[in-house]
Amino acid sequence: MFHPKTYQVIVIGGGHAGTEAALAAARMGASTLLLTHNIDTLGAMSCNPAIGGIGKGHLVKEVDALGGLMAHAADKAGIHFRTLNSRKGPAVRATRCQADRVLYKAVVREVLEQQPNLDIFQQAVDDLIMDGDRVTGVVTRMGLKFHAEAVVLTVGTFLGGRIHIGLENYEGGRAGDPPSNALSRRLRELPFPVERLKTGTPPRIDSRTVDFPVLEEQPGDEPRPVFSFMGSREDHPPQTSCYITCTNAQTHDIIRGGLSRSPMYAGVIEGVGPRYCPSIEDKVVRFADRDSHQIFIEPEGLTSNELYPNGISTSLPFDVQWELVRSMAGFENARITRPGYAIEYDFFNPRELRHSLETRHVENLFFAGQINGTTGYEEAAAQGLLAAVNAVLKIRGASPWCPRRDEAYLGVLVDDLITLGTREPYRMFTSRAEHRLLLREDNADLRLTEKGRELGLVDDARWQAFCQKQEAIAQEQQRLGSIIIRPGDLAVDMEQEILGDTLRRETRATELLTRPVVTYETLMQLPGIGPGVADEKVAEQVEIQAKYAGYIERQKEEVERARQAESVALPEELDYGQVKGLSSEVREKLSRHRPQTLGQASRIPGVTPAATSLLLIHLKKHM
Ligand code: FAD
Repeated sequence: MFHPKTYQVIVIGGGHAGTEAALAAARMGASTLLLTHNIDTLGAMSCNPAIGGIGKGHLVKEVDALGGLMAHAADKAGIHFRTLNSRKGPAVRATRCQADRVLYKAVVREVLEQQPNLDIFQQAVDDLIMDGDRVTGVVTRMGLKFHAEAVVLTVGTFLGGRIHIGLENYEGGRAGDPPSNALSRRLRELPFPVERLKTGTPPRIDSRTVDFPVLEEQPGDEPRPVFSFMGSREDHPPQTSCYITCTNAQTHDIIRGGLSRSPMYAGVIEGVGPRYCPSIEDKVVRFADRDSHQIFIEPEGLTSNELYPNGISTSLPFDVQWELVRSMAGFENARITRPGYAIEYDFFNPRELRHSLETRHVENLFFAGQINGTTGYEEAAAQGLLAAVNAVLKIRGASPWCPRRDEAYLGVLVDDLITLGTREPYRMFTSRAEHRLLLREDNADLRLTEKGRELGLVDDARWQAFCQKQEAIAQEQQRLGSIIIRPGDLAVDMEQEILGDTLRRETRATELLTRPVVTYETLMQLPGIGPGVADEKVAEQVEIQAKYAGYIERQKEEVERARQAESVALPEELDYGQVKGLSSEVREKLSRHRPQTLGQASRIPGVTPAATSLLLIHLKKHM
């Protein structure tokens, strides 16, 4: 007789949020069940098999520092790596890779299957089991009941999913997968504010039908960046190139000719799409004066013929897709293997969540990923990990972990969602972080590994490697701080070549690194200083920390000032109608957003510094 085991945590959905959530809960020692539609689609990439990019790469490295999976899988599956913004400052440098989607999924599955404390079961969840306002388990399509102390819901684009290709539309969670309609109906019965969003994907192309010699080739970067703190270039599979083509006046004419049959322009789609990843028809309409858009042609895998033409996401009818693809250089004879499509789906307004990602309406129920209004694998992974951490902390009676905005992009992401909500798919950018010099990719490990260790997410091997790196950085900083170079010590031509100027006073070697032209590598060429450390990550830290010390210090002071306001709590029962002097607009916004702290209140658009002072006065008087 089958008696379902009772778990501490159940995670629903095996996408990017769900897999990180399940692993994190299990790594923390909680008995965990991952329930998903199909074990073969664990870690499936619904759209482009690419990981990272500006802001997103930062999230991947943070998930990695907390012992997560995404960076490891990207290293094992990445077939084209680049460092974006490599000529700009370290705050905005970002790693991106094109992954082999089959390899990626295989790594995700392998890691999940090896994780102690984690069971995986293939079944759709149709219902939640409730005890008053608290979730206590789930019911699957077969009617099986699984009980748990906490549930993390990560069902992506599947809730009430509807796929559109031209004026044809049908139910689906993504191409090839069923939607989650029963669960969507059930959640709509609960007091969650449900809205609709939309996203889209381009048609895929058979590489055997592409004229590569006419295309611009884009090889990956050398030396190749590595995602995971524990990874190395040896983890990477063989590498391949991407290519570039572009749309032209004829492509745009074809698109304009098809607009009357576009579900977006015919008013069939109601959901709002991602502003920063618009469909090609949107680009042609919105930027009518441009007669060309660049299209990056990215491989889907080493053993696949399919190519992802990045930049022509579309829900135009298939005959229009066929023509528009064939109007571009190199694609004259291209064959489409899968049509592009748009998908509309339910999401829950994230303002109804706590910073721990627990829902305000149902206790011990946590939401993560696309259902919170975000878009992207990385945003989903980061939320999944955080939701699971807080689910485990909650059932252990511990306080939640809510990273601050100056600690992690994870903190920026969650705070933006919860304080401001979103009306369009939210994606991460470095520009969303006000303290971005503190939140670099290169220091994600230094910012978060210790916290990860404390939470039980970081294993001994990573912890040891981290401690060794920290020690090596400190030693090298000390060594360079003790080397003094005096005017005349260096040959004149060496001074000009390496330091860019004459040395006019005694200077410590560390100080030389603050000069714009001096790098760690060039510094090591000076007599008596090299050869330096062999580990390029240690060298990078020594250089960045010295070069940006002044700016970093200033940001830390700003953070300290902001933290004082941030930490003032706003009681849940606070009646904004009673706060004297607030305008009715500010009152309405505060009542609607219900910020938890004064800092959050100050970030709500329209809440002025004067309004936050009035709040502070009210709190001092009455609370
Ligand atoms: P998903 O990856 O969607 O995973 C959800 C998981 O839940 C799946 O495993 C599913 O089988 C499972 N599931 C669903 N319902 C149930 C249930 N009732 N019971 C059990 N299991 C269930 N992102 C971008 O950044 N850029 C883009 O251009 C982009 N384009 C996209 C285009 C399309 C067509 C789609 C579908 C997605 C696109 N995305 C894009 C979004 C990206 O795929 C998601 O942000 C990311 O996959 C979200 O991760 P997730 O874990 O929240 O959900």
